[in-house]
Amino acid sequence: MPAAPSSPSSTDTHCPYCSLQCGMRLRPVEPAAPGEPAVAVEERPDFPVNQGALCGKGSSAAAVLSARARLGTPLVRDHRTGRLREASWPQALERATQGLAAAASRYGRDAVGVFGGGGLTNEKAYLLGKFARVVLRTANIDYNGRFCMSSAAAAQRRAFGLDRGLPFPLADVSRTGCLVLVGANPADTMPPAVRHLRELREAGGRLVVVDPRRTRTADLADLHLRPLPGTDLALALGLLHLVITEGRVDEEFVATRTTGYERARAAAMAHWPERVERLTGVPVAHMRRAVELFCDAPTGMVLTARGGEQHSKGVDTVGAWINLCLATGRAGRPRSGYGCLTGQGNGQGGREHGQKADQLPGYRAIDDPAARAHVAGVWGVAPDTLPGPGRSAYEILDGLGTDGGVRALLLMGSNPAVSAPHAGHIRERLRALDHLVVCDVVLSETAELADVVLPSAQWAEEDGTMTNLEGRVILRRAALSPPDGVRTDLAILRALAGRLGVGHGFPHTAQEAFDELRQASAGGQADYSGITYERVAAENGVFWPCPATAAGRPAHPGTPRLFLDRFATPDGRARFADVSHRPAAEEPDADYPLRLTTGRVLAQYQSGAQTRRTPALQRAAPGPFVELHPRLAARLGVADGDPLTVTSRRGRATAPAHVTPTIRPDTVFMPFHWPGAGSANNLTNPALDPVSRMPEFKVCAVRVEKTPPGGTA
Ligand code: SF4
Repeated sequence: MPAAPSSPSSTDTHCPYCSLQCGMRLRPVEPAAPGEPAVAVEERPDFPVNQGALCGKGSSAAAVLSARARLGTPLVRDHRTGRLREASWPQALERATQGLAAAASRYGRDAVGVFGGGGLTNEKAYLLGKFARVVLRTANIDYNGRFCMSSAAAAQRRAFGLDRGLPFPLADVSRTGCLVLVGANPADTMPPAVRHLRELREAGGRLVVVDPRRTRTADLADLHLRPLPGTDLALALGLLHLVITEGRVDEEFVATRTTGYERARAAAMAHWPERVERLTGVPVAHMRRAVELFCDAPTGMVLTARGGEQHSKGVDTVGAWINLCLATGRAGRPRSGYGCLTGQGNGQGGREHGQKADQLPGYRAIDDPAARAHVAGVWGVAPDTLPGPGRSAYEILDGLGTDGGVRALLLMGSNPAVSAPHAGHIRERLRALDHLVVCDVVLSETAELADVVLPSAQWAEEDGTMTNLEGRVILRRAALSPPDGVRTDLAILRALAGRLGVGHGFPHTAQEAFDELRQASAGGQADYSGITYERVAAENGVFWPCPATAAGRPAHPGTPRLFLDRFATPDGRARFADVSHRPAAEEPDADYPLRLTTGRVLAQYQSGAQTRRTPALQRAAPGPFVELHPRLAARLGVADGDPLTVTSRRGRATAPAHVTPTIRPDTVFMPFHWPGAGSANNLTNPALDPVSRMPEFKVCAVRVEKTPPGGTA
């Protein structure tokens, strides 16, 4: 759909938060007081993904532009007082670069680390990767997107040879026959997307939701399966078992478009329904009904999100759901397929353009000699000067300040002091660093620990592209100038690079950076070379891959739908995964008899660094809570609102009880948006998936006790 023009004084752009990247319009307004936002968020009905709808986070996004919420000047830690104090930009940049250079000189280049964020624009992610490899020449760069979708990405690459969150536009969801949503709660995490679920139901399509909690999304479903946290892999295998034994395999699809079926079949046959019921708690009758709904429909999709992915077996779990799609012919066909509902705003683009430890721009592998040569050519450096693969996000954080670990860290747009698993340990590691530089828009809990804090411009103050969950490259436009005292991340990287001896190669504008990114991505899987700012603005986004065409030839139209003719594997066939059930890294025992699962609430976003500073959102969701079933509450002698202490092997969190029948009696739930005593990530388990290095946020063993008056249990 072509973009409708906005009024001359307003700016068409996109929400700063989740991967839906809803279109919005920013209208100039007279600030309510000095320092208050000079724009108001309005609907932008022409953007097809959200058609004007915004959730409360998007509609209140301007609040963080307020001078009261954000950083307005650089800060450096005063050696005498130990406190952060205001500094000039030259002072702060000098201190930042001195610390990075000192660590490199004392411990070696890989002792300097870079940690990025899934909310950074493509241009920032690209230049952050270039900064790490060309200026610092460190292998140790990764980003918090590793915590978000890396298991789904790895499983898709294994199965399809390519990873793009959704291989089709989101609107296709409303036209499929049966949608299975695994560990996804869009009614709370991306409410405008629920329109597609309603349209699906109105068109006669079926909805199956797999989630241990009865969420508002589950309330929309024909069937809600409630597996024990950590058993989704077994459930998917049990469903495939039933598909096989009930003669529902699409033999022709399997024979002509896949490989590896026999091994996957053998693994599924070892997961007979009664065994799977024992493992998951899902009754056999419910499994049979799910298979009936999925296979009776002419088309079908499976979409996973963090609930199915954030496990120490997340790659295999997603692989098992993909197996179900492949066996039933629900992949590589119109209105059918597997997809991942990416979480962070640019979780997709962030991993395509070099912010990840093992990748170079264009989704190139950093250990591929041809990829290294191509990117080194664009950067004007010798290929052998580029570092190899580095450590993954949690491994970087876990090793901070240790022998052989990262000693000085540049962190941009991430708040691991709250968002990392085993967060108490990660805060200790951040404190153990020789030097921490944080670029952020607010004084996050991580920035509070820094030696240097560099205040960044916000989404409404700078141009840049994002790649949403569909693989659609969209354009954010600046509606305002950054306030005095604040610089764009591009300007910060350019200044740091210059002070570290690289005075070129870090462009002044986002569009220049994007044009270089296009060259670097050309010929890669995520080929952006045919995408321009002008096209993105005129076409309301362009789907990658979109290679450049020769002069005089029509432009490539972009690729809204992948795999319809062939999968991106060398032989064009999708690969079944050979996977079997295994338990969670930490199962309940006598000391920690319950399972904890974590997630998000409607009015907060990720570590809450921005949304906790938004008055309307903070009023709607002011703090953490512990969701528990009435039967468990009765057993513990707990009433709604009672203060609870939740303890795991890694730490403790206190929060009021929220007694509700929507949770399983053997499981408690906590949202993870808050720091301090109620931080759910004080409890979570950093056990990593062996392939994706994704931590097991979604299940660990805990003990729950009523907090006695005046103290912790
Ligand atoms: Fe923003 Fe996501 Fe809400 Fe859309 S759904 S308004 S992108 S937070």
